[in-house]
Amino acid sequence: MEKYALLKEFFGHTAFRPGQESLVDALLSGRDVLGVMPTGAGKSVCYQLPALMLPGLALVVSPLISLMKDQVSALFQAGVPGAYINSSLSYSQYQEVLHKARSGAYKLLYIAPERLEMEGFQAFAQEADISLVAVDEAHCVSQWGQDFRPSYLKIAGFIHSLPRRPAVGAFTATATAQVREDIEKLLELRDPVKASTGFDRPNLFFQVVRPKDKMAELTRVLAQREEQSGVVYCATRKQVEKVYEALRGRGISAAKYHAGLSPQERRDNQEDFVYDRARVMVATNAFGMGIDKSNISFVIHFNMPKNVESYYQEAGRAGRDGSPAYCLLMYASRDLSTARFLIHDSNQAAPEEDRERLLRLELGRLEQMAGYCKSTGCLRAYLLRYFGEEAPDFCGGCGNCTAELQTRDITTEAQKILSAVARVERKYRRGLGTTLIIQMLRGSKDKRVTQLDLDKLPTYGIMKEHSREQVNDYIDCLVEAGCLYTDAGEYPVLRLTNKAKGVLFHGEKVTHLCRAPNRTEKAKDPATPHYTTPADVDQTLFHALRELRGELAEAERVPAYVVFTNAALMDMAAKKPRNMGEFLAVSGVGKVKAKKYGRPFLDRIAQWKKEKREETRVGK
Ligand SMILES: [Zn+2]
Repeated sequence: MEKYALLKEFFGHTAFRPGQESLVDALLSGRDVLGVMPTGAGKSVCYQLPALMLPGLALVVSPLISLMKDQVSALFQAGVPGAYINSSLSYSQYQEVLHKARSGAYKLLYIAPERLEMEGFQAFAQEADISLVAVDEAHCVSQWGQDFRPSYLKIAGFIHSLPRRPAVGAFTATATAQVREDIEKLLELRDPVKASTGFDRPNLFFQVVRPKDKMAELTRVLAQREEQSGVVYCATRKQVEKVYEALRGRGISAAKYHAGLSPQERRDNQEDFVYDRARVMVATNAFGMGIDKSNISFVIHFNMPKNVESYYQEAGRAGRDGSPAYCLLMYASRDLSTARFLIHDSNQAAPEEDRERLLRLELGRLEQMAGYCKSTGCLRAYLLRYFGEEAPDFCGGCGNCTAELQTRDITTEAQKILSAVARVERKYRRGLGTTLIIQMLRGSKDKRVTQLDLDKLPTYGIMKEHSREQVNDYIDCLVEAGCLYTDAGEYPVLRLTNKAKGVLFHGEKVTHLCRAPNRTEKAKDPATPHYTTPADVDQTLFHALRELRGELAEAERVPAYVVFTNAALMDMAAKKPRNMGEFLAVSGVGKVKAKKYGRPFLDRIAQWKKEKREETRVGK
């Protein structure tokens, strides 16, 4: 069968997404590939489809046990024979999988990298007809990446040991040049065909807010999304526990996940979330790499992550099925100091010769993350440009593009802050950090302030009436306006620029573009227009179909999205198919799923139509 027919039959799509087809074609012709694709861009199709078409067995190297299980069960639902080998299998289960694989029962075999080195598996691989080797999360091979796994370094040797070298495909969502180079070199790719799907995810709405009370803001946002499921990421375990308890206290169905829980607890909690028994998952960044739940409608960051790569990967777990999703980041200047602390702390473990270099690298990345939080420009453009793509200045689908911005004159506040910094510079040539300057301006009685005699300066307490956050916001504005800068170092110090002199001595004005006041307190969510279902989709029908999906999923003990994604249900509700032929035209519906689920869904749609007719008759 040719590839378009297979694409429809097994994956339910009529067309490839950008970048997919060139990778599929290359693997089919025996060439190596490097696919750089953000989470949710349809990376697995790129190797699953060739695996189906080529004779023999495709090996998929994957770092995460839970991801393998989900992928294999998703393949099974689509009618593709696959299996996995990892430490969760007993010895006899392992033997059985190998036995079936030898007899040609599978097209795809998922395997943890550690297994490649095991004798039994190597013996199997010598005899097996391996069609291709796909390396998922390929950035794990690089020490520059986020999740270095030493066992990934053995992959090249394993491939080398095979009697015939199959095509090798490497796939990753991390795109910095350094990591890409490492992947090519360390996996020994041969002149690979490279493609990127592009990093834009048009169905994601990005927003940054700086709430006075994060917990209150979170509760408000969740209340607006009562029927939706999503993730709340926190920076630390302690924070996870706090937010989790607070949500439970407010009667919100939540689960928690962090490295401090036992493996059993983590597994149970993850399942509660995947099977929709818990609506909200509160977690550290330990959660998510192995999760393939496609109906996550929001990802909220309670704290700022350490870098843009992590942020985009975590936020990108929303809306995997293509339906509109919401990515909110709650920023407070405290997040920046916490993240700095965590970076210094985690670097203590690094080998001494690398420490300085890694520290600089990570602090630089952190600054760029903070830049996103403070940006008043298009947030989507900021992210895309970070990943080296061109982007227009206005997307219309982010918090900043849809916010009402206004220009405010902040000259008075600017003069107070700048003169404080000037006086500190005169007194202490090395300068002082932001925290101390804010404390001095607000008239703090902190010991450090009095020890340094800051309470003797005439600028002491001149911004008493402002909160810590407010003063910090003004300082951010002045950095953006080019009047102040922080010189890098372990303890960043605030310094004046030449431009500051104009403000201090020549009456130059400082204005700042900021969001209209009270925007976050508005009853209407700025993001709401993007989250309504399309006009031709009847809500009652959509709910009826969702209910049916829940029943079927329950009966089969699979997560709901494995039956159909939200996007597929949405399209079904819009098209209202009357027969199997029309049912197959629904996006995301392949032959196997149509055969399995077509009847009950068609019946439910017919029943809904009948009820609707009766309703209108009664109405007349
Ligand atoms: Zn925008």
